[in-house]
Amino acid sequence: MKFYSTNNTSSRVSFKEAVFNSMPQDKGLYMPVTIPRLDDKFINNLDSYTLPEIAFHVAQNLLGDDIPADDLKTIINDAINFYAPIVKLEEDVYVLELFHGPSLAFKDFGARFMSRIMSYFLEEGEKQLDILVATSGDTGGAVALGFLGVPNTRVTILYPKGKVSDIQELQLTTNGQNIRALEIDGTFDDCQALVKQAFTDDELNAKYRLTSANSINIARLIPQTFYYFNAYAQALKQGKNKIVFSVPSGNFGNIGAGLLAWKMGLPVEQFIAATNANDTVPQFLKSGVYQPKPSVATLSNAMDVGNPSNWVRIADMFKDDMSQLNKLITGYSFDDEETTKAINAVYNHYKYVVCPHTAIAWQALKDYQQDVPTDEAAGIFLSTAHPCKFPDVFSDEIASHIDTPAQVKELHAKTKKSVALGKDFEAFKDYLLNNA
Ligand SMILES: *Cc1c(COP(=O)(O)O)cnc(C)c1O
Repeated sequence: MKFYSTNNTSSRVSFKEAVFNSMPQDKGLYMPVTIPRLDDKFINNLDSYTLPEIAFHVAQNLLGDDIPADDLKTIINDAINFYAPIVKLEEDVYVLELFHGPSLAFKDFGARFMSRIMSYFLEEGEKQLDILVATSGDTGGAVALGFLGVPNTRVTILYPKGKVSDIQELQLTTNGQNIRALEIDGTFDDCQALVKQAFTDDELNAKYRLTSANSINIARLIPQTFYYFNAYAQALKQGKNKIVFSVPSGNFGNIGAGLLAWKMGLPVEQFIAATNANDTVPQFLKSGVYQPKPSVATLSNAMDVGNPSNWVRIADMFKDDMSQLNKLITGYSFDDEETTKAINAVYNHYKYVVCPHTAIAWQALKDYQQDVPTDEAAGIFLSTAHPCKFPDVFSDEIASHIDTPAQVKELHAKTKKSVALGKDFEAFKDYLLNNA
């Protein structure tokens, strides 16, 4: 499959180039030249396949020319080695648990697949790949654990001091090996600015082979389609073939992957874009005006995005028929007070604990089901992270109901190792140059 830039649809690069460049020079995003439609036989029989089988079939349709089948199978079996169950909470309300990977967030799908793809394409004797990543919490952990021990790669994570949860910080700072963490005395935006400046610095680029691991990389998007197909497969097993997905959204990579799955033939009735107060997209869906704005801080901080980076992909997929997009997606947004109410309501209704991002998706689904009672589809809301990653948002009673996974208990026994830096570029650059 060749890929083009959304800013120049006649451009062409290979999958390998698209992965290593991450973003085209013209600052568009890479998209596949054609979106293959999967055969009906596969779609209609999804319930007879496992997650790795589904992932392989989907990936092969997109990347079959780029990676031989056996290699692709190995990559998928290694990357997608955890499950993504749907759990029924009540009639026509299911939660898709995407937090069973090593960092306990859905970003494990993208990060693990991307790390293995990069490692696969790195040829013998090639210069080590230096991955720089800024994180507000979840991305760093997924990327760190995704690349941990992957040969010929090194990850440098920048995170804002005091602004990630304890578990997130431990996931970033206790790995050792090829992972190092920089604790920046600043905000997430400062971390992001440092990384961006590093990519344009001649001296750093001469010395290192720098690449980014953020959510705009096409190798993170593709594996996120897998769990939509797999969730549908599980719904089929429960006798449901009309599905609505509610997706907690920040940079819109997750829902973008869902829409890509739809374009590939997954018969989804409706997508719900659920956001916090950073409601650029829900506003756009209402008014038709796309007006990015500065982000505001909320309880669901992984969705504090005022200008979603993956939106251009969605706009590109529907450029020939924006009215189709308007029919397919509905937007809902909720403030922090509503988020807290939703967390409590989910707990009270089902004795189930959701993280603040997931709570927003649940509330959006419930509101949608009330607003559109004619839609008889079953609703699946995506749970993007394990609640134990955000302990500060819960009441004591709810917190005591969180099942802490074993890997988190182990984390607490490990020692944090990070380097403290200010937010000025020169100190960051010195660190990189002097710590080859
Ligand atoms: C990253 C993240 C999101 C937002 O996903 P996008 O793909 O950026 O829309 C939602 N919830 C959690 C827990 C996340 O880590």
